[in-house]
Amino acid sequence: MHDVTPAIEAIDLFRSLPLGSETISILRGLTFRIERGEWVALTGPSGSGKSTLLGILAGLDTPTSGSILIEGVDIAKLPERHLARLRNSKIGVVFQSFNLIGALTALENVEAPLHIHSGRASARAAAREILDRVGLSDRLHHRPHQLSGGQQQRVAIARALVTKPALLVADEPTGNLDSTTGAHVLDLIADLRRELNVTVIVATHDPDVAGRADRVLHIVDGRLTDANVFSESISLVGAR
Ligand code: ADP
Ligand code: MG
Repeated sequence: MHDVTPAIEAIDLFRSLPLGSETISILRGLTFRIERGEWVALTGPSGSGKSTLLGILAGLDTPTSGSILIEGVDIAKLPERHLARLRNSKIGVVFQSFNLIGALTALENVEAPLHIHSGRASARAAAREILDRVGLSDRLHHRPHQLSGGQQQRVAIARALVTKPALLVADEPTGNLDSTTGAHVLDLIADLRRELNVTVIVATHDPDVAGRADRVLHIVDGRLTDANVFSESISLVGAR
């Protein structure tokens, strides 16, 4: 038996939405666990529920029923104030479209999550350090529109990891990047995962991106399937 609390434990998660007079079921009973330090790819066709699941894992959305434990804490049951604190300290989120604040510089974007708990000087120092780590020390005072897509995503990764979270949740993080830039962004996530010992979950429909993961969760119509569609590419990567 495992006595180490997993990074994520989902138990019979459901998510449905009212649509007119009907209810649409998006997630239909997901149960899985992800160990600390694992890198898991979440794959599945468009509309299968990947973003919905990641939103719940990130504490941005709540399930209709079921439990979602992040390091043993059931986030679906936390009062909003506690959830906000847990989200800020334990979970970093990266989106396909970067979602940086356009009016802020790279440095200000990365500092923002630290302002809740840290003093100004220490927030600035930590933001500078991680922007240096992602190779952007010469772009600190640029705004998002002055940066390339790859640079913007590196700022977003720095912002997600500046709090040293337990969990990095990334929704199609390379979806808006060309393949070379996307591969560099994945290399960066791989290196930072090792350095910071962060658990990584990445939604993708790109087999190359899924092939970087330790394991694949495949979702179809809101249910996990047994079929590990990318297992072959993963074993090829592992064999190299
Ligand atoms: P994926 O990320 O795998 O493409 P999503 O989680 O974005 O899938 O969406 C899953 C399903 O839920 C889709 O059919 C989508 O249309 C529906 N859906 C998601 N969010 C909403 C919403 N706010 N209102 C109505 N339908 C939604
Ligand atoms: Mg999606």
